[in-house]
Amino acid sequence: MGKLDVAILRYLTSEDFRVLTAVEMGMKNHELIPGSLVASIANLRHGGVHKLMKELCKHRLLTYERGKHYDGYRLTNAGYDYLALKALTNRKVIASFGNQIGVGKESNIYTVADEDRNPLCLKLHRLGRTCFRNVKDKRDYHAHRNRASWLYLSRISATKEFAYMKALHERGFPVPRPIDFNRHCVVMDLVQGGPLTHVTSVPDPGRLYDELMDLIVRLGNCGVIHGDFNEFNIMLDEEGRPIIIDFPQMVSTNHPNAELYFDRDVKCVREFFKKRFGYETDTYPKFEDLERDDEMDTEIACSGYKRTRGVDDELLQEMGIGLQVSNDEDSQCDDEVTDEVNTKTNYEEDEVTALRNEVEKSIMNDERKTNVEEITSK
Ligand code: ADP
Ligand code: MG
Repeated sequence: MGKLDVAILRYLTSEDFRVLTAVEMGMKNHELIPGSLVASIANLRHGGVHKLMKELCKHRLLTYERGKHYDGYRLTNAGYDYLALKALTNRKVIASFGNQIGVGKESNIYTVADEDRNPLCLKLHRLGRTCFRNVKDKRDYHAHRNRASWLYLSRISATKEFAYMKALHERGFPVPRPIDFNRHCVVMDLVQGGPLTHVTSVPDPGRLYDELMDLIVRLGNCGVIHGDFNEFNIMLDEEGRPIIIDFPQMVSTNHPNAELYFDRDVKCVREFFKKRFGYETDTYPKFEDLERDDEMDTEIACSGYKRTRGVDDELLQEMGIGLQVSNDEDSQCDDEVTDEVNTKTNYEEDEVTALRNEVEKSIMNDERKTNVEEITSK
């Protein structure tokens, strides 16, 4: 996945958008969506959906594939990007695109700008897209054998990140201001500065150390643990103040392994300061010293049971992704997935109606700014 092809945003029409949304919704239940089903879900007044789909395949926003039991369409990564970016430009959150500034573990980061040319940061979550055959850490994602799951996982990760960032920002934590999100994309303020890992010296390491430990404690008192509090996710702004980023893996202090995650965050900071700045001290926060004064974890439904980066079992179930954990490691790669669940070709009237409604709802939602209360109250 390289550069974003943003030129496409200009010449595709609202009908194209509707057809892509129809395929996206169809992918909730099917690995491949037959053209006839796309046509009835998209519900275009003038028909002509097949021609549109052919064009969308040419632009590689859709692919047409042969399945075991029938052929059909599938949304590509680029197609999913297009849907999110188009929605964000329609909402006038984004007006122009800049460069890629980062490739994180599970994201691509770009600079973008709003209509007033204010620089912003766009984070595209990318979960479960690649086959990490030998990476044990990634196994959880591949437990979901549905090939479409990257789409939902990336979306859940972005949704959670936005909710956490919003809750943290409202409480005055030094995090980028969250602006909006759509599908797997989060838009936030661009931090002027760089990650701590690029910093070779600071004027007062002891002071920065204290500031970071205070942040860990303040988070803990709100009921949350960052869970990945390291030099890649701590940025220093132009004044040398820390800004914390990257939240999808945050957990509740009620998590059974909370103390372990808390201690690990603390240890990350201690070891980095020793290694990079030669700074060592016996003063560091302990989990038992936390004094809870906020219920942020329950407010944003922080994962309290299963620590999966940005993913909740309940949410997955709600979205119809079963947790079929397989012990057979070698069969967990996307390219070996079959379309075993999609054997039917006659669609129930109910399903078509339901998907059609979801397309309408989704398109309406894409036209207005996100209401955070809605996502957190689910
Ligand atoms: P990942 O979850 O993939 O680790 P991060 O959110 O940590 O993604 O972002 C990856 C990198 O992108 C960061 O280390 C940082 O350099 C850059 N970055 C992320 N968010 C911002 C931001 N708001 N402003 C400036 N740079 C950012
Ligand atoms: Mg990161």
